Amino acid sequence: MPTKRDYYEALGINRNATDEEIKKAFRKLAFKYHPDHNHEDRTGEKFKEINEAYEVLSDPDKRAAYDRFGHSGAEGFFGRGFEGFNFGGFGDIFDAFFGGTTTATRQTPQRGTDLDYRLTITLEEAAFGCQKELNISRTENCSLCQGTGSKPGSQPKRCTNCNGTGQVRRVHQSLFGRFTNVTTCSRCHGEGRIITEPCPQCRGTGRENRQRSISVKIPAGVDDSTQIRLKGEGDAGRRGGPSGNLYITLSVLKHEFFTRDGDNILYELPINFAQAALGTEVEVPTLDGNTKLKIPVGSQAGTVFRLKGRGISHLHRRGGGDQLVTLLVVTPDSLTKKQRQLFQELANSLSPAKKQQSKS
Ligand SMILES: [Zn+2]
Ligand SMILES: [Zn+2]
Repeated sequence: MPTKRDYYEALGINRNATDEEIKKAFRKLAFKYHPDHNHEDRTGEKFKEINEAYEVLSDPDKRAAYDRFGHSGAEGFFGRGFEGFNFGGFGDIFDAFFGGTTTATRQTPQRGTDLDYRLTITLEEAAFGCQKELNISRTENCSLCQGTGSKPGSQPKRCTNCNGTGQVRRVHQSLFGRFTNVTTCSRCHGEGRIITEPCPQCRGTGRENRQRSISVKIPAGVDDSTQIRLKGEGDAGRRGGPSGNLYITLSVLKHEFFTRDGDNILYELPINFAQAALGTEVEVPTLDGNTKLKIPVGSQAGTVFRLKGRGISHLHRRGGGDQLVTLLVVTPDSLTKKQRQLFQELANSLSPAKKQQSKS
């Protein structure tokens, strides 16, 4: 179970706080951390915490149980239900507390949408890092009206239907009493203002679609499905809200002959019988160009040679993996007459390879 903050501490009050003090502390913090106002606390954790603290401390029974038994005492009242508390509930609780005066998205800054981009790179690019140009299509604020939607030089007018509030209240009388029904103003769509002279470039939307070329540095050591975040490169926010982010998800192409194993590179080196028996020096490909490898006399199939530091760089830390070269001794499947004769001679002079057969 995660450790929970003390409810009094969460609201910044002492244990003898009066109901009035609790209410005041909550009101202050709820405004500060409400997800519509606070964009750093995107998960709403803080808001959830202070709400929970207030739920308990504002109720004399719950508060008494909490004072005696701590969190486990308070949870007796909530059961698992409280953990299921979610974003959808914020508005309601907020409205209940503040009398429904602040709601919805009207006139509050809105963060832009995050964008996703799938980028395919080669194994070499993943190993050493690279610089890439991405062509993306995103929504930006109109360059002519700076996102206001009004023709430059003109001003939007206050909506007379809702008196600039963006909401229309209607009182209904029913058998059960009076109900106030609050709806978004249909004339200004909740904006509170009406654009009388629309900007000719964006036709009053304040937004336009732009193609952008974005340069991104892919660090060395990335792997398939590594995600890179480019802060603020997503769609523009509304009403002064921050832009969304651009998330790049990498996809690394399969290599012709290298296999990746963590930060090591696996490679199978084919050699023939004679090379294995007599030893040789061969050129081995690595991600970083060819290198020479000495095959000792009498090398067996399956022997692994380690090329230190020839693997993939560790992501965000120093050093890197190795290249592991496995010997693959290839049996010839077609022989010339001369070769067949030589193999025959060789066969006659060699004793049967009993020991090695049972070994491998
Ligand atoms: Zn415009
Ligand atoms: Zn209106």
